[in-house]
Amino acid sequence: METTVLKKIWLSPPHMGGNEQTYVQEAFDSNWIAPLGPNVQNFELAIEQFVGNGVRSACLSSGTAAIHLALEILGVGRGDEVICQSFTFAASANPITYLGASPVFVDSESDTWNISPNLLREAISDRIAKGRKPKAIVAVHLYGVPYKVDEIHAIANKFNIPIIEDSAEALGSTYRGFNCGSFGDIGILSFNGNKIITTSGGGALLCKDVKTKEKAVFLATQARDNAPHYQHSEIGYNYRMSNVLAGIGRGQMEVLPERVESRRRNFEFYREHLSDISGISFVKEPEWSSSNRWLTCILTPSYEFRERIRLALENENIESRPLWKPMHLQPIFEDSLSYVNGTSEDLFERGLCLPSGSSLEHNDLERICGIIKKLLK
Ligand SMILES: *Cc1c(COP(=O)(O)O)cnc(C)c1O
Repeated sequence: METTVLKKIWLSPPHMGGNEQTYVQEAFDSNWIAPLGPNVQNFELAIEQFVGNGVRSACLSSGTAAIHLALEILGVGRGDEVICQSFTFAASANPITYLGASPVFVDSESDTWNISPNLLREAISDRIAKGRKPKAIVAVHLYGVPYKVDEIHAIANKFNIPIIEDSAEALGSTYRGFNCGSFGDIGILSFNGNKIITTSGGGALLCKDVKTKEKAVFLATQARDNAPHYQHSEIGYNYRMSNVLAGIGRGQMEVLPERVESRRRNFEFYREHLSDISGISFVKEPEWSSSNRWLTCILTPSYEFRERIRLALENENIESRPLWKPMHLQPIFEDSLSYVNGTSEDLFERGLCLPSGSSLEHNDLERICGIIKKLLK
């Protein structure tokens, strides 16, 4: 008997544009096989031009490293508390613990799925009342959907607490016409393999002035003092991006607008073909923002319903994934403080990320929707 192997469809695979290898070759030709060199500078320039709003960027080895350095630059240290959106990937929260500080998790609102302004206000007031004013806030544009920048930043400003804007999933998303990554006291990007563009692994710290950028680069390159010998007055890290990988990044920046378009097209296809099916819904795009639709997420009526879809797709060699498990429900953070309202827990139970790569073809999308439709008939 013949067995046919169905073509594997991944959730969000890398998608090269064409010029990446040219820039990587330049690194080889000039022997800049190091965590510095012209590709790093040019990649940073391309990021700064794309994000705009006057941002400076420092390319690093990962988005996690960028959050770690952002927290350190903002003065977070042992014994401090840092507020963090609970509904996110663990990399938003883990670096808080690297510095000996504690995360305080805040739940989401149901319209953007991001940090709730009301709950944030409540959490800050409560922590201040207990003599524990938070040192920083990590807010996340989850799945590329911008959080309510004006509301969240007004609250942070009122209490004079800096914001780290986790834009790992939101490169190419905009809020009131400005690019995500440009709003926080410090912003971060990720170029991990599953993100909208990738350098296989990598990230960037975004800031508003050259001094902060220089500080980030200093910390990312072992904190070397200005001396002919190796001298250190501070603890540093080895977090700078390699010039080889920055070559991939330069090529990827050239196709970023196309990648955003393709992901938005995927979302529209799913919405068109699935929204009249019993109870499946999508997170809306408010008129004041545009999402890069990094991943298309559906909300189903129940956990069982969600699992039926996920397993049916898996059975046909198609990868899908439940939404992020909130941090306040993670075993590692069970002792952490949290201010919750049930929103992220409910989203986690009922939500599913569908294949969303920019290289998905029309017939892949038809195949996926066909399986879901057949299942629910
Ligand atoms: C991917 C991601 C990160 C971390 O990025 P890495 O480059 O993988 O370290 C941080 N926050 C969120 C929300 C992410 O999705």
